[in-house]
Amino acid sequence: MNNEEIWQATLAQIQLNISPANFATWFKNTGITEQNDGKATISITNSFAKEWIQNKYGKTILKILHDLNPQIKEIEYQVGKMEAKILRRSTTVFPAEGQLGLQEFQNQKEANINSKYTFDSFVIGPFNELAHAAGWAVSQNPGKVYNPLFVYGRVGLGKTHLLQAIGNEIVTNLSLKKVQYIPSERFTSGLISAIRKKDGIESFKAKYRNVDVLIFDDIQFLSGKEKTQEEFFHIFNHLYENNKQIVLSSDRPPKAISALAERLRSRFEGGMIADISYPDYETRLAILKTKCQERKLNFSDDILDYIASNIEKNVRELEGALLRLLAHQNLTQQVVDVGIAKSLLQKLVLAPKKLITPKAVIKAVADFYDLKEKDVLSSSRRQEVVKPRQIAMYLLREELKNSYPFIGQKFGGRDHTTAIYAYEKMSKEIKKNSNTAEEIGLIRQQVFSA
Ligand code: ADP
Ligand code: MG
Repeated sequence: MNNEEIWQATLAQIQLNISPANFATWFKNTGITEQNDGKATISITNSFAKEWIQNKYGKTILKILHDLNPQIKEIEYQVGKMEAKILRRSTTVFPAEGQLGLQEFQNQKEANINSKYTFDSFVIGPFNELAHAAGWAVSQNPGKVYNPLFVYGRVGLGKTHLLQAIGNEIVTNLSLKKVQYIPSERFTSGLISAIRKKDGIESFKAKYRNVDVLIFDDIQFLSGKEKTQEEFFHIFNHLYENNKQIVLSSDRPPKAISALAERLRSRFEGGMIADISYPDYETRLAILKTKCQERKLNFSDDILDYIASNIEKNVRELEGALLRLLAHQNLTQQVVDVGIAKSLLQKLVLAPKKLITPKAVIKAVADFYDLKEKDVLSSSRRQEVVKPRQIAMYLLREELKNSYPFIGQKFGGRDHTTAIYAYEKMSKEIKKNSNTAEEIGLIRQQVFSA
């Protein structure tokens, strides 16, 4: 096999084992440049990705390559041309001396950053290590490694904490860099009030165009706000073209944000996309212990175990549980034991799990493809609705175990054979076509991971 073929075959295998976000992030623009004397040389776009791939996937890659070509016994990793190009474009501007003084504090205030959200207090586990590593790299080299950095994950899983940690790190170590943190809703309301003032809009734009690092939290709230997206797009481009760092967060990947201008979406996808998923038990326990340490709390191990075993999908709720116990302890001046803890936390723990309805699935499919629910349910044969409809049918069967007659009924009173056909077609399609598989994965994530 030539370099291209063997690398494609390797990627195909790697892809099976990692999330689409990871795959796109780390393996984009990689390749084999040489196979010589039992050594394959792999080229990777920058040194950060090189290190990551080497550490995380090095063994796997060697094994796959060796299986494909038994002569290969060793791998050399090389940074490809990309880095040189990116590095050359960037410039550092040093302002006049004597301006520093209280700069750091001042910077933090102006940057709109809370000093408690730091990397030190951010617990790393398998669920967030990608986002953490990328965020850390960006904080060490803003504007140079990954631009934009797009972090996504469900609510309460640490996006804001991570974004602010990046800001804090830069403000502290690179005090000459001007950082601005802004939640997207504040950006929107700021823009609206700027429009009303004379020259307001010019100074509004200038404020964001003058930063070195723009941290924009919860970008999903720009969905459907065309005017705000338009202004944001211009600011984004200006910063990007000047090698200024942009960091974004969202509760879903760019692809799944409905009513987002295509040009913004493709800008976001052009950078680094890192997901935060759910913490595993060990990490949940580690987070609880860290929070206890921070607040000098002393809860027994069985209490922490109880919390970590029962609150699985939200770090904020883990913290909330501790605070609940603390409040009780302060009030009663009694040490909380596991029995008390259980009864205090019952409400939190037993909160009803969201019931997923066919309607929710259909809505998610419609949102994902920018269609109306009634289009998905209709019997139209337009190409752009046929596939989404089949996907919706597939998900109702696969995930909700709805019967074929029910599904047929639901979609314009059709026969059960239509539902069977759609289900089988999509089952095959997922195996054949990685785009479809990815799309379905994203929709699934949207519906089921709330
Ligand atoms: P999001 O912005 O994703 O909704 P936040 O960043 O606001 O979530 O996090 C919610 C709370 O959980 C915050 O108090 C934050 O400090 C804490 N938290 C989240 N992830 C971590 C983590 N990995 N380590 C320590 N604390 C965390
Ligand atoms: Mg947040």
